[in-house]
Amino acid sequence: MIEKDLPEMPCRELVEVISDYLEDRLSPVDRARFEAHLAECEACRTYLEQFRQTIRALGRLPEESLSSEARNALLDAFRGWSHR
Ligand SMILES: [Zn+2]
Repeated sequence: MIEKDLPEMPCRELVEVISDYLEDRLSPVDRARFEAHLAECEACRTYLEQFRQTIRALGRLPEESLSSEARNALLDAFRGWSHR
């Protein structure tokens, strides 16, 4: 039941909502947009996998310990990936 005309989710937005996705707090629409983006974006699949590894290492979601500095570093990494 995924609608076809959902607005595309940019990488920047995916990074913002990734912890909500992993905790199953996204609306069905945003979840569909998230998964549609993942299907087409290797950088975000890599990011999601790294995020999951971080959770495994910490034993919990890192959202509260993820400073804006750390987030910016991740976004920088994104820009690097997209230039590949
Ligand atoms: Zn992406």
